[in-house]
Parts: sequence; C-alpha cells; structure tokens
Amino acid sequence: MTQPSPEAPSLADRLAGIRQQIAEAAATAKRDPAVVTLVAVAKTFPAEAVAEALAAGQRHFGENRVQEGMAKYPPLRETHPDLVLHLIGPLQTNKVKQAVAHFDVIHTLDRESLAQELAKEFEKSGRRLPCFVQVNTGEEPQKAGCAPQEADAFIAACRALDLPVVGLMCIPPAEEEPAPHFALLNKIAKRNGLDQLSMGMSSDFETAVMLGATHVRVGSAIFGGRSYPAP
Ligand SMILES: *Cc1c(COP(=O)(O)O)cnc(C)c1O
Repeated sequence: MTQPSPEAPSLADRLAGIRQQIAEAAATAKRDPAVVTLVAVAKTFPAEAVAEALAAGQRHFGENRVQEGMAKYPPLRETHPDLVLHLIGPLQTNKVKQAVAHFDVIHTLDRESLAQELAKEFEKSGRRLPCFVQVNTGEEPQKAGCAPQEADAFIAACRALDLPVVGLMCIPPAEEEPAPHFALLNKIAKRNGLDQLSMGMSSDFETAVMLGATHVRVGSAIFGGRSYPAP
C-alpha cells in the first residue's frame, strides 16, 4: 500500500491562506481587514496564472514593467472588467502614456519630472489614476523613491500639479528589519494627511498590515518562486 502523497497547495489555496493571514494580522492590530487590499504580483508569470487567480476571486494585480502589463492583461480584462492593475515598478517618463492607458493605479511616483509627465497625460487622456508616492525609506542610493526628508515637499509639488496622490509606498532594504521602515512611511503619510500605505511583500506582509498597510504586494507566496530575476 502506498501512502497518499500530500497534495501541493493550489494557487487558490495559497491565496486563501494569505487572505487568512491578512485577516489575522489585522485582527491583532485591531484594524478592519476589509481596508487591506491584496495586490497579487504576477510579474514573470504567464496570463494563465493570472486567470487562475481571477477564477479564485482575486481582482487586484501588480506588475513592475509597463510592457509586461500591456501584453498580459487586455484579454483578461475582457472577461473580467473589474480587474485592477497596479504599476509597482519604476516608471520612465517615455512610458507614461502607455502606463496611463494600461494601468489603474501607480505606486511609484517618485520625482518631479515624472509628476509633470503624469499630470500632462492625465489631462490629455482624461484618465486620472490614483498615485502613491514612493519613499526610499532606507535611503539606498540604487533604489527608486524620494528621500524621506524630501517627501513632504514632493507630495506638496504633486498636489500643486493636481495629481490624485492617495498614499505612500516603500520597499524596505532587503537585509533590514522592515518594521521601522513601515512605521516611518506611516508617520510621513499621517503628517501629510494621506491614509493609504502600499507596503509589505511575501516575507513581511503581516508586519506591514499590523503597521497600517492598506495595500500589500504579494508575489512569490501566491505564484511561487520566479524562475528569472525581475529587474
Ligand atoms: C516583486 C515585487 C513584489 C512582490 O515580491 P514577493 O517577494 O515575490 O512577494 C512587491 N513589490 C514590488 C515593488 C516588487 O517588485
């Protein structure tokens, strides 16, 4: 008699597990789990994987490259018009037009030149996407995001351009405790009257939820390990 091998959890199981963990972390922090949006980061995974997540009820997806988002989602939107696509990777000014046409939320507004291009394109296209200002909380020279000490002025500049800034986003340094970075982001958001926080990934989304995240960006814990590194 052979032992039945334990079944590997399906994508739907993994999604359900993460939603459960979000709910528990929110409960611990006495926060309403309904205010936390799970953004499933599908970068490097094919449209079939996104379709599987859609079938399991997932609606918010994240991509870090404009090109990949443009290629993958238009057919999926035809069957799921309520799909919401988040741009979570660096945005070059020459890709702004395509980004505004194909994405619904921008998480990586981090510099004046980009703010100006977005303002122009929102005006031209009539699409005004909610924007998160990315803050480089770890002040890592190679990382995108405005410096924490420049955040207040940059947020004010974005508002002066009439951009719909809804919150802040950060990616803590890989080798550090994420909690102080999440707490710093929360503090900068509060003093600027912003109530949305895009923070937390597969390894630290529960900590992020406890510290006020409204959007967690979870990739590998849903879709599995990526077979090639995303830039
Ligand atoms: C890839 C990526 C994620 C998801 O990372 P995982 O560790 O796979 O959950 C979140 N945020 C950004 C900005 C990313 O590029």
